[in-house]
Amino acid sequence: MVRRIVGARVGSHPAADDLVQETLVRVLAASARIEPGMLEPYAIVTARNVIASMWRDDDRHKRNQHRVVDLRPPAAPDAQLLASEEQSAVAQALARLSDRDREALLAHEVSGQDTRSLASQTGSTAGAVAAQLNRTRARLRVEYLLVLEQTEPPSDRCRPVLLALSSGDRRRQREVDAARHMLECQLCARLSQPLMDRGQQRDDEVRIAIRTDADIVAARQAARQLAARLGFSRTDLTILATAVSEVARNIVRFASAGEVVIELIDGPRQGVQIVARDAGPGIPDVDLALTDGYSTYDGLGLGLPGARRLMDEFAVASEPGRGTTVTMTKWRQEG
Ligand SMILES: [Zn+2]
Repeated sequence: MVRRIVGARVGSHPAADDLVQETLVRVLAASARIEPGMLEPYAIVTARNVIASMWRDDDRHKRNQHRVVDLRPPAAPDAQLLASEEQSAVAQALARLSDRDREALLAHEVSGQDTRSLASQTGSTAGAVAAQLNRTRARLRVEYLLVLEQTEPPSDRCRPVLLALSSGDRRRQREVDAARHMLECQLCARLSQPLMDRGQQRDDEVRIAIRTDADIVAARQAARQLAARLGFSRTDLTILATAVSEVARNIVRFASAGEVVIELIDGPRQGVQIVARDAGPGIPDVDLALTDGYSTYDGLGLGLPGARRLMDEFAVASEPGRGTTVTMTKWRQEG
């Protein structure tokens, strides 16, 4: 379908294949955050956006061709102007939030106040505060884009749709029929891109590529920071960070490259899920590798059995020659 849309617009342009690929990559990256019924409309508007940005780049390239050898330093004043425009857009977007939401967001993001202490101030729970902060961030992104576009949405359906896209809330997306609206509204079709392209910047998910020891440290810290938002105890944060270190170290030692994805679970029960993937040699005997005392590092570290002991749920899927995926979850203790 994507190939057909691209073909109808650019014909046999040499970049057609790239445009199809680019569109698919974006749609796949966003697929976890859009409801299934929206996949097709989203693919359509994404293809259009990708094509439009190619024409823009082409045009810029043509206009700048005469100065291919331009030895002047990059225009610093422009960069400065951009930075100040961005700051003022953030300030204006913040001003559009309710006082309560803005204060909570600033206390959390700027002053570093944790969700637990915010909750005790308002007689709420850490989980409810975290969920409210997520909604506030989603709204801030929408308002920020609208300020940058210097526009007010053409209909009163736009904001609810944009908000549902921004928060990645699939149930809301269905309720407000985001799929149909995106096809009908140019503004929302265009803004869907920056809202969905956040990829890595999803509020409740962090993805870290693992290659070196430094990446192990980064994964560890990210797990700690994310779980702290749910109000995990200090001890549980350390336990979680240790388990993440172990699975990340496994990737560095045996697979040389992979990734760790840390995701908050904000369901009826709150917790953190870690998925560690690699495309390494795989583990020939998973049961053996999970046996206590079986150490893959010649006695160093806790290894997979150690990580399993630290977490509440733990599963390993491995295929020799293709790689290993470890999925593990730690639930937050109530009270
Ligand atoms: Zn709209």
